[in-house]
Amino acid sequence: MAEREELTWELFGSASRALARMIADDGFEPDLILSVARGGLFVAGALGYALDVKNLHVMNVEFYTGVDQRLDLPVVLPPVPNAVDLAGAKVLVADDVADTGATLKLVRDFCAEHVAEVRCAVIYEKPRSEVSCEYVWRRTDKWINFAWSALPPVVEHAGRVVDA
Ligand code: 5GP
Repeated sequence: MAEREELTWELFGSASRALARMIADDGFEPDLILSVARGGLFVAGALGYALDVKNLHVMNVEFYTGVDQRLDLPVVLPPVPNAVDLAGAKVLVADDVADTGATLKLVRDFCAEHVAEVRCAVIYEKPRSEVSCEYVWRRTDKWINFAWSALPPVVEHAGRVVDA
């Protein structure tokens, strides 16, 4: 099996702190953080505390169905962020990884229609990403196992096996 990149909870703690430090040192002071659910929720929460930003929003985008298996296009799931809440704001988009970059491109394009400025922060960026994020903790071309999705769900849905 191809080698994987592992982001443990402990490593996530130092990665998100280092990412926040990069953003602060760059002088970017976002009015709000827009997390890309679900993986970006963890990143946005950590950055929200580290950068002292309480205004957190969510955009729910579905794209991957398995390891390197994708839908044809990323799909925005409801509820869609309220454009009025974002209007004129300096927005920091937070996600776990820019892989193809299609998800972040969709979110960035959505923001561009409404906000004053948009920048992206990710834990990982892969070389093939069509979006170049302003803030990146680490670069890799491997599949990443994130702490939050490394284990299967504890509930059974549509024939999935329950994790004991
Ligand atoms: P993209 O649109 O950049 O191809 O992928 C964005 C989303 O796909 C990420 O937010 C994440 O949920 C999922 N994804 C992409 N690459 C990986 C990976 O290497 N590991 C995991 N666990 N999820 C990934």
